[in-house]
Amino acid sequence: MADANPATPVATRCGRCQAALSESERVSAGDRVFCRTCYDILKLQLRTGVAAMSQDINYPMAMVGALLGGIVGALAWWGVTVLTKIGFGLVAVVIGVLVGHGTLRFAGGKRSVGLQILAVAVGALSFLGAVYLVNMTFINDALAQRGDALRVSFPPTGLMMFYAVIAANFGIMKLVFLGIIVYEAWFIPRPIKLPSA
Ligand SMILES: [Zn+2]
Repeated sequence: MADANPATPVATRCGRCQAALSESERVSAGDRVFCRTCYDILKLQLRTGVAAMSQDINYPMAMVGALLGGIVGALAWWGVTVLTKIGFGLVAVVIGVLVGHGTLRFAGGKRSVGLQILAVAVGALSFLGAVYLVNMTFINDALAQRGDALRVSFPPTGLMMFYAVIAANFGIMKLVFLGIIVYEAWFIPRPIKLPSA
């Protein structure tokens, strides 16, 4: 049993080039050990890879992904809220996650602050659009019950109408939901940060 002999210490080898390493030559990275040269090469590759992740981003495609996520999420929020008469926070999370992942996937897995801003903007707009749809439904129901022929339209006829319908019942819970969406949309496409060593 060669490996049972304590007099022969097992040589530590570089995890990349397999060179035997003395104590002073080792560089630890995570749970692996490398020689200085391999460590520098790997570090450079990693930095290059991370930098490339935030370059040449296809923003129009990312926008398509964000909008798709936002539309699906907003329709889910609208449907669930109209059916249950309750705005579930969980569905707000769904909008944020769908917009965040839609942005990330359609950008080909790239990450940047620009994508974060895009996702936050689309996420917030999707939520406001969803709130508009929900309120429109309830307001139109009330108008119909009163025998009033007036209807809130979609799309709204202008920004004032959009604002008035959303502001009709915008309370603290909606602010919380919006906060959750903004957080998710900001967090998911965030750039990877390397420890500066
Ligand atoms: Zn090596």
